[in-house]
Amino acid sequence: MIRKTRLYTPGPTPLLPAAQFAMAAADIHHRTAEFRALYTRVLAQLKDFVGTRNDVIILASSGTGAMEASVSNLTSPGDRVLVLSAGKFGERWTGITKAFGCEVDVVSAPYGSTFSQDAVKAALKLETRVVFVQATESSTGVRHDVQAIGQLLKDQKSEALLVVDAITGIGTTPLDMDAWGIDVLIGGSQKALMIPPGLSYLAVSQRAWDRMEGTYNPRYYFDLRKERKNAAKGESAYTPSVALIAAMGAALEYIAGQADGNLVEGRKKLVDNAETCAAMTRAAATAMGLKLFAPKGFEAAAATAILPPEGVDSGLIVKGLRSKFAIIVTDGQGEMKGSLFRIAHIGYFDYLDTIAVIGALEQVAVALKLPLLNLAFGTGLIAAQKVFAERTK
Ligand SMILES: *Cc1c(COP(=O)(O)O)cnc(C)c1O
Repeated sequence: MIRKTRLYTPGPTPLLPAAQFAMAAADIHHRTAEFRALYTRVLAQLKDFVGTRNDVIILASSGTGAMEASVSNLTSPGDRVLVLSAGKFGERWTGITKAFGCEVDVVSAPYGSTFSQDAVKAALKLETRVVFVQATESSTGVRHDVQAIGQLLKDQKSEALLVVDAITGIGTTPLDMDAWGIDVLIGGSQKALMIPPGLSYLAVSQRAWDRMEGTYNPRYYFDLRKERKNAAKGESAYTPSVALIAAMGAALEYIAGQADGNLVEGRKKLVDNAETCAAMTRAAATAMGLKLFAPKGFEAAAATAILPPEGVDSGLIVKGLRSKFAIIVTDGQGEMKGSLFRIAHIGYFDYLDTIAVIGALEQVAVALKLPLLNLAFGTGLIAAQKVFAERTK
């Protein structure tokens, strides 16, 4: 059979055709009224998409650039910060904060789990300036309880700012920045927004803007205050990624269009969509006799991390899906390589995409003669069908 390449990765994610067309047509100069109208509209829509009244800043960088910007703008060398880490992206916070001279306390939980609120409470100090966390840890498929962390900071009357890497959290899990006391919420273009990599964005609270007045870590290209000043005039400080901004506009229109033009409702639909695809996938894997990596109740809807049967390298399944169907799923990152594989649901995935990957997984499982309880064709599909029917009736 012919093979159609399909991405099932938690970034980059499949591209929205309307966004691809918008990119191809984005032949505009960035110091013109035409661009200012586009940028102003996209920034306003992005606020609705994030679900905040705070200003949103767009940067020409991958998601890590916005993570770095949050550190360089909000800290000074010697500041005590707290990193909550349970995977590769949590470890990235430790790396960045150390690179900027922070005194870093780390609460870590084993891969595939989340930290206890008691451990966070015990590690929080009077002098903690910033707390860094992921909304969903894409390397393990685990969701962290950001709301509870925000509540803890309020209860403790902490001065610490809460910075959330929601790069795979936005559009896959409910997040209420303003109500939960999140000070910086970070997203990336190649995730829920269905466009190529190259843009990151941050929503920034007034508390965080105030903090920036007194911090002195070095920053130049990623100076958020400078970007904010320019954004108010409909421009960016330097040459923006015009094509990606046009694509972002088209994607936000599409998401709004899923709910009669209401972007806030559209975002909720997108979250519900990811949750349904994830629930279908979990049910299928479990029915086939595969185990999930995330603890119950803390599964990220961005991607499902599935353990291979004992004694089997997950790379065999990853390669099987690729060679038989040109389906791209991700193996474990770093030392998790070989011990899990991840199927994404973030962004432009629907019912049919999910059914397709489950069907393909069954084919690969049978071809590889995986030692599973239930190797019969249809086992995973039936479970997924039932979940879909139940969730959408
Ligand atoms: C994708 C991702 C990032 C950003 O990675 P980049 O490669 O810099 O875009 C950061 N955090 C999480 C949780 C992610 O999934």
